[in-house]
Amino acid sequence: MSAKLMEDVMSLCKRRAFVYPGSEIYGGLANTWDYGPYGVLLKKNILDFWWKTFVQDRDDMVGIDSAILMNPRVWEASGHVANFADPLMDCKSCQERVRGDKILEEHLKTTIAGLSNAEIFAKVMDEKIPCPKCGKVNWTEPRAFNLMFKTYQGVVEDTAEQIYLRPETAQGIFVNFKNILDSTRMRLPFGVGQYGKSFRNEITPGNFIFRTREFEQMEIEYFVRPEEKEALFDQWVADYKTFFEKLGIPNDKLRLRFHEKDELSHYSSKTVDFEYEFPFGWGELMGIADRGTFDLDQHTKFSGEKLQYRDPVTNELFVPHVVEPALGLTRTFLITLLSAYEEQKLEGDEMRTVLHFAPQIAPVQVAVFPLQKQQSEEATKLYKELKPLFRAEYDESGAIGKRYRRQDEIGTPLCVTMDFQTVEDGCVTVRERDSMKQERVKVEELKTYLFSKLM
Ligand code: ATP
Repeated sequence: MSAKLMEDVMSLCKRRAFVYPGSEIYGGLANTWDYGPYGVLLKKNILDFWWKTFVQDRDDMVGIDSAILMNPRVWEASGHVANFADPLMDCKSCQERVRGDKILEEHLKTTIAGLSNAEIFAKVMDEKIPCPKCGKVNWTEPRAFNLMFKTYQGVVEDTAEQIYLRPETAQGIFVNFKNILDSTRMRLPFGVGQYGKSFRNEITPGNFIFRTREFEQMEIEYFVRPEEKEALFDQWVADYKTFFEKLGIPNDKLRLRFHEKDELSHYSSKTVDFEYEFPFGWGELMGIADRGTFDLDQHTKFSGEKLQYRDPVTNELFVPHVVEPALGLTRTFLITLLSAYEEQKLEGDEMRTVLHFAPQIAPVQVAVFPLQKQQSEEATKLYKELKPLFRAEYDESGAIGKRYRRQDEIGTPLCVTMDFQTVEDGCVTVRERDSMKQERVKVEELKTYLFSKLM
């Protein structure tokens, strides 16, 4: 994969209504992105697919939607106030700011783990790593930069009123653990899923929507008995492998990387990352972490509320352990696009750009065309019948070949064309995106046909 792929995908995103630069008419706001008419559909379809797979279809899962703004004590308890920081280094010559660990990783072309700020500084200076902007080696020593966005609640901008935009959705689940136990009949092992916006004041956002300051997550906290934890951890890894496969992510673009002991977050005793081979190299897609009893213990300590589970059979009272699969929605959106994108050479000099989306997540599932204006009325009628059942689009402008190309570019799996023969034989032409094969299907059998191909 090359940098060109990223450029091509970004250009397609802008051209075909997937992603636009944020606040563009005002000159933009760095690293913010807006999801356009097809982008919002793709994002929602990925989210719905995740929700259906991991919440709706399972008896051991429920969902929650907690507030983005939380009592600041939550973030003291979770360790984010003390620990959620990156090593920030300034170039003394041009004032460029970088993440010390990241420029070291890029330079050494490997993941580094568990280095103190002093060690990062020593290595950066030893390796004479230059400033990416001005090329000089003139760094300040790293200082811890907390990634949480601060804001104020109410009318007084006073530190007493200072709160944070949540940097992850997970804590909203932990603080509701008791509520969920008291108000539902969930029994161990069980999990709670939550999706939504999170905010991190990243020092080096970039690579399109890979790392942004405002992003979306799909997280699960899965509560277990300690003795069943290992097997369930492995099960989550397997379940997510299947999920990515169904999403259309090629196996050879994914790898698992277990964190070294000295790399683990403060709350975790075991973490594995799913990494994806992005055009800029391997990068994290998601993490599955064994969080032990850390979060429930901390919130018990800070809130005074006992967060425990009573076994309904043995009456034993204990703090469950937690396995956390944490996935970024916007990052999944990016890998879905990168994996689906292809520029295909056709016969002669002809080219087409095609997005090979799985039918479940394609923004448009079926496009309906009249071959010529004469069939407009009938084709519109068919389109109106299909629209409540499938994500459908109608197009009658331009040559049929052009219309196919337009649908290929947004990843529409099937196109249905009505032509002059339809009146005689009651059939339409269905054209499949990937093979470009066409077949005649009876109009009265079309819905069943589409259900079998698209759902
Ligand atoms: P990274 O090492 O890339 O900074 P992280 O290990 O801090 O990520 P987690 O805290 O484990 O990330 O968050 C879970 C998931 O949320 C990540 O795997 C990623 O998919 C997503 N995510 C985290 N930070 C961002 C961001 N700034 N922009 C987009 N997605 C993000």
